[in-house]
Amino acid sequence: MSEPLLLGAIEAGGTKFLCAVADRDGTILTETRIATTTPVETLGAASAFFRDAQRVHGDLSSLSVGSFGPLSLNPLAGDYGHITSTPKPGWENIDLLGHLRQTVDAPVTLDTDVNCAAVGERLFGSGQGLDSFCYVTIGTGIGVGLLIGGVPHGGANHPEAGHIAVPRAPGDDGFAGICPFHGDCLEGLACGPAMAARWGVPAEQLPADHPAWPMEADYIAALCATLTYVIRPDRIIVGGGVMQPPMYARVRAALVARLAGYDASMRTIDMDDYIAAPTAGASAGLTGALALAYRTATRQWPMHWRMAEPFHANKETVDA
Ligand code: ADP
Ligand code: ZN
Repeated sequence: MSEPLLLGAIEAGGTKFLCAVADRDGTILTETRIATTTPVETLGAASAFFRDAQRVHGDLSSLSVGSFGPLSLNPLAGDYGHITSTPKPGWENIDLLGHLRQTVDAPVTLDTDVNCAAVGERLFGSGQGLDSFCYVTIGTGIGVGLLIGGVPHGGANHPEAGHIAVPRAPGDDGFAGICPFHGDCLEGLACGPAMAARWGVPAEQLPADHPAWPMEADYIAALCATLTYVIRPDRIIVGGGVMQPPMYARVRAALVARLAGYDASMRTIDMDDYIAAPTAGASAGLTGALALAYRTATRQWPMHWRMAEPFHANKETVDA
């Protein structure tokens, strides 16, 4: 008989915190969705959820959190475990990890939301069978999670590749960009809110033949080219609200143009396979965080897990 194992996970996002408790087989025993309001309210509700779950299901072996950032993930830093310079009102310098460690009786670990989503894609989605790949999200921000040699590239060395400098796309001359730190870094030029700021309407309202789309593809291809040259991953999984289906062909074509036939290893990339959509579903981040909790507790990945049902609202769920 194996030891009992109870796993906790949080996918901490700017609009909602998804929390779940699962058993050794990845079966979710209880879960909740908490609206992201103030840190006191949101973190209080998350802690209460795990305390309640422990009363019902027993001690948590490990609680793993995947969070929006930027995060301080260097254990030697004074602000280790904090959400640092986020523009999200009220959340700057919030001690996310410290709060959970003080209020939930379990070992708690923290990683980026995109690394957790990458782990979810590795188990159940477009990263299956791959040792080294990138997970990119083009949404409210631009984030990149990395698995290298089967291991998330996290902690103090996690990348912030959404903020790389990129060459201006043709015709994008007058727009200053919206990154509060860099102005026209990649995120400042190409996240969803940057598109809204440049064109005056939300990205979802731009018609299919609008020049915004080839420009956007050009920026995403610039990121993919950099990831290709620096990491040379097996695949780049690109998701997020901006990545609607027609974007994939555009990004692939723009990336081929950018790589410009350089080096045999890049000339032979099968673009249809290389630039892929995520397929692990909306729960990839939460599932990935549960898998990280499993790994913290057992030192192994839960390769026996079956894909969980998508996050659903009918299991002991409360809206905070
Ligand atoms: P988040 O990054 O906050 O997790 P999303 O990945 O859903 O959330 O990204 C939200 C962004 O995606 C918004 O800026 C929104 O304008 C954009 N977006 C949502 N739906 C579409 C769509 N159908 N077409 C283009 N952009 C979209
Ligand atoms: Zn930036």
